[in-house]
Amino acid sequence: MKRLRIFLEGTVQGVGFRPFLYRIARDLGVGGYVKNTASGVLLEVEGDEETLDLFLLRLEREKPPLSRIRSRRIEELDPAGFGDFRIERSEEGGDRGISLLPDTATCGECLRELFDPGDRRFLYPFTNCTLCGPRFTIVRRLPYDRANTTMDVFRMCPDCDREYRDPSGRRFHAQPNACPLCGPRLILYSSEGKVLAEEREALRGSLELLLKGGIVALKGIGGFHLLCNALDEGSVRRLRELKGREGKPFAVMFRDLTQLRRFADPTQEEISLLTSPQRPIVLIRGRGLAPSVAPRLRRIGAFLPYTPLHHLLLAELPFPVVATSGNLSGEPIVRDEEEAVLRLGSVADCILGYNRKIERRCDDSVVKVVGGVPTVLRRSRGYVPLPLELPLTLKRRVLAVGAHLKNTFALGRGREVFLSQHIGDMETLRTCEVFEESLFDLMELLGFDPEVVVCDLHPRYETTRWAEEFARRRGLPLIKVQHHHAHVLSCMAENGVRGRVLGVAWDGTGYGEDGTVWGGEFLLSDYGGYVRFKHFREFRLIGGERAVREPARVALSLLLHIFGREKLPPLNLGFSDRELDLLSEAWEKGLNAPLCSSAGRLLEGVSALLGIRWRNSYEGEAAVLLEDLYDPAFKDHYPFSVGDATVDWEPVILALLEERDPVRGATRFLNTLAKIVLAVAEEAGLERLCLSGGVMQNDPLVTAIRDLLEERGFRVYTHRHVPPNDGGISLGQVARTLGEDSEL
Ligand code: ZN
Ligand code: ZN
Ligand code: FE
Repeated sequence: MKRLRIFLEGTVQGVGFRPFLYRIARDLGVGGYVKNTASGVLLEVEGDEETLDLFLLRLEREKPPLSRIRSRRIEELDPAGFGDFRIERSEEGGDRGISLLPDTATCGECLRELFDPGDRRFLYPFTNCTLCGPRFTIVRRLPYDRANTTMDVFRMCPDCDREYRDPSGRRFHAQPNACPLCGPRLILYSSEGKVLAEEREALRGSLELLLKGGIVALKGIGGFHLLCNALDEGSVRRLRELKGREGKPFAVMFRDLTQLRRFADPTQEEISLLTSPQRPIVLIRGRGLAPSVAPRLRRIGAFLPYTPLHHLLLAELPFPVVATSGNLSGEPIVRDEEEAVLRLGSVADCILGYNRKIERRCDDSVVKVVGGVPTVLRRSRGYVPLPLELPLTLKRRVLAVGAHLKNTFALGRGREVFLSQHIGDMETLRTCEVFEESLFDLMELLGFDPEVVVCDLHPRYETTRWAEEFARRRGLPLIKVQHHHAHVLSCMAENGVRGRVLGVAWDGTGYGEDGTVWGGEFLLSDYGGYVRFKHFREFRLIGGERAVREPARVALSLLLHIFGREKLPPLNLGFSDRELDLLSEAWEKGLNAPLCSSAGRLLEGVSALLGIRWRNSYEGEAAVLLEDLYDPAFKDHYPFSVGDATVDWEPVILALLEERDPVRGATRFLNTLAKIVLAVAEEAGLERLCLSGGVMQNDPLVTAIRDLLEERGFRVYTHRHVPPNDGGISLGQVARTLGEDSEL
């Protein structure tokens, strides 16, 4: 006989770990106990050597799907003569972050019960268990107990209570446990907020509306969605008009994989993302949906149902539905019924809600396979708030406020970084309010008290101003980190890279050290600092922000840089003679025409030059459409030249002027960018590269860079768990504090 004492750390609380151990211990006839501690799970087991080996093996192999064991420590002790295996009372105190978990898609067992007429939860929209259901969006404070969630107002019925106390079942300590007798129920409202129906009638009412081509505002896990028939062009158009969203693609929810396969051919990798417990929106090649779902694009954002309510709705509909965030353009996602009436009442024909509160907003996450790697483009529901691990230990507790667009903030302590849910573009007052509210909320939840504040170098970012004010009020030191350095650091940090790398940070816009707009950067980087090794030759953004919306202005600017105003070749960019005159003059005088080195703008300029897109109806559209055209059949590239400090695009643009085929042009251009990275990497002489910035969401580009460089022995790191875009900046800002002094 032997006795083992086992300490487990990681995601081991609130995911059904204790009932799982209880089950295998009883199975094997092993005595002992298990309990939650302040830092994980502690268990002791007693039995003969062979049985204990089997126990450990099964522990590893069969552990609950949502659990993750980060560390395991085993001590051998003298036998204590345990009888049965028991679950003991939890220890109090300690690290409060440990049981803070993400919201998780309905599990297979719950789904089976949902559609089983003999089950007491048959067709019940709020069923859940320790393997699935809401977490992050219902918890008010820690520890994660029912009384500390928005389920506190529901009193469990005797049956639910029995399940809750039964250590052998999957609802043991399932905090949101509920059934039709005692749990939340559906309520259907008119767009003015009048109650129309409840429970099954509410569901039926919404279904009838959707079948008739209507728009339904549906309360989800972290906020509202707006739904309509994704095959009905009229409904989708109407939704676009009412929501004020011109061209940005809508996500589409499919009933199941079978339905999805009628509209797309996902790869095995994409299927495992689509069906993962996180259930993100996955960007895949699609077909056959209403054209206005994703105008001009072959790629669609697809996802599968992740709440019982989604399953119930979609089971009754003969078509997939557009399921886009319930907000007005540029605003945060709507969270409760009153807000829905106020903000979505003019868009939706009815509002399907329920009487459980959403404690905090959490948008859908977005994932895309980029360069062969599943890459999170928006890290939110399903992933947040699990911490990311740093390669080194932080000396201080760090609050990093992130960037301006696609904002997230981050809290770092020890080796952990808690990245916030997606906040959004800090362009509206509402989003700025939600930023502050979410920041204090997460600090409070984690009991986090920052010792240093980090922000972007940009003097006019809302986040910079906020950080300056906050640091001043609290008397904390403030560190400002250059935007593209933060991009590179976030890629280094999430890949556990230490030492020095060549960072390739390509994006739309970031504030440069010299006050100009950067965005096509090659930075020799470590955690302590960077050297701007090379960058794209600068060009003027005619009209500043207007050039961001009108890539045709960038195309014109590039040509003006090459030919000058007098020798400008005849071109078609959709400008009248008068506009051409005014724009050329602004360019010549440098009036509201700042210099930039942005790779993102360059891509958009090329897109305009090729006649793909002159005007963006959403951020980066021209570049996305260019990416969509890539054809791997074309292997060649354009000439380019790499100088001491700059990479010159002039030979590329000259060659592009001769190009007649936009598909070949787009492909050759992206191939050229990959060749440029290779040339610069060879000159820099560092073996490791980190690719970051919004441009590195471009799948063919990243694939081409990776193929080309790995063949030459370089090691190419890209993003996976953290967005390459500005949603990842806050992690990079935290990582900056890992290096006090740079060796560069
Ligand atoms: Zn479940
Ligand atoms: Zn009940
Ligand atoms: Fe950026």
